[in-house]
Amino acid sequence: MSLHLRYAAISDRGVVRQGNQDSVFAGSHFIAVADGMGGMAAGDLASAIVINTVARLDVPPPPDSVVDELADAVADANRAIRRQVADDPQKEGMGTTLTALWFDGEWFNLVHIGDSRAYRLRDGGFEQITVDDTYVQMLVDEGRITAEEAERHPQRSLLLRALGAAEVEPAFQTIKGVPGDRLVLCSDGLSGPVSDADIARTLQNAATPQEAAETLVQQALDAGAPDNVTVLVADVVADDPGEQRQIIGGAAADARLAESDTAVLRAVKETDESEAGDGESETTEPQPRARKKGRVWRTVLACLIVLALVAGGGVWWARTQYFIGVSEAGTISLYRGLPFEVAGYRIAWLDTDSGRPAEDAVDSVESDLENGIRVDGGTAAEDELSALVDPAAGNESLDPLCATAAGETETQPAASQDCRED
Ligand code: MG
Repeated sequence: MSLHLRYAAISDRGVVRQGNQDSVFAGSHFIAVADGMGGMAAGDLASAIVINTVARLDVPPPPDSVVDELADAVADANRAIRRQVADDPQKEGMGTTLTALWFDGEWFNLVHIGDSRAYRLRDGGFEQITVDDTYVQMLVDEGRITAEEAERHPQRSLLLRALGAAEVEPAFQTIKGVPGDRLVLCSDGLSGPVSDADIARTLQNAATPQEAAETLVQQALDAGAPDNVTVLVADVVADDPGEQRQIIGGAAADARLAESDTAVLRAVKETDESEAGDGESETTEPQPRARKKGRVWRTVLACLIVLALVAGGGVWWARTQYFIGVSEAGTISLYRGLPFEVAGYRIAWLDTDSGRPAEDAVDSVESDLENGIRVDGGTAAEDELSALVDPAAGNESLDPLCATAAGETETQPAASQDCRED
């Protein structure tokens, strides 16, 4: 018996964020959620590129090569992100999660990387069917903290794997569909502020995927929605629901980004074709001795990749942190990164320079400024920056602020002071 999907999807900017870096796609055969990360409008581009690349899989999957084609589509998307960074170093650090399911009428082929999630409600039982690629999940797996402690852990956003890295290894699994199953794909904008118990209750009570998706997004908004919220609900049904329109939402639906990533994908395709043309030597069977040597190198390379992924995840997380400190020019400045050295290295990028000397800081924070004061990101950080300037110094409100280029280090000159950006 061939089964069908009845689906609904919503992507919402949330309450706090200025833009939406999540993307979503839903079709009769393929459903996917991506949560982009990285400043300078790079996170939304990353998730848009991935969703617009993998959306080509919304066709009946080929029985013999489904995993290969799924892996190829993800690899294409990753190359497209890498090309963006190579063309524009300011986008360094851009990346995205991806959780996607390709349905053949009986089996779901799942690909997953990052901390977006897939859940399933079956016969009243609710379970998460993806494993978060996060630092706290690793601690849970090792028995060092409980799942409840992970939900409140200060480093719960630290990703160990995401698309955009030089080497990516998504997880693949196959899941049998059963009529009555209700699946949810979501970004951490839902799973962060809304508990699994509340998500399960909503899925049990909602009559339709649309009602479930709307209610879940509303629950995240009611909880303050500090992040973008994306929810996709798909019911496995025996009866053909008839024609359903494809849904593309979030950053992937932004025409400006769609245009940009179409150009990128074209360039990646051309590169692939030219590489395929002169790649004959790669198909030559290696000699036994060369093969053994190759195995050793592959093992060494695999170890290096694992180390790089762990370090890369740390950098990703660091770029989501903010603190206010004093720049080398002696001005009160907002930084992304960490206010302390890690293994002798300073992991910090200048975000906004107030242009105000450190002496203009209010007395109570003058000493703390030298060590860096941790703050939340976005407009909250700018408000903090304004609040730290002593009104007695004649700076009751700061001049408009100007974000410097992402990736610019603290040793580089500050931007001009005639604008303010988030
Ligand atoms: Mg998110």
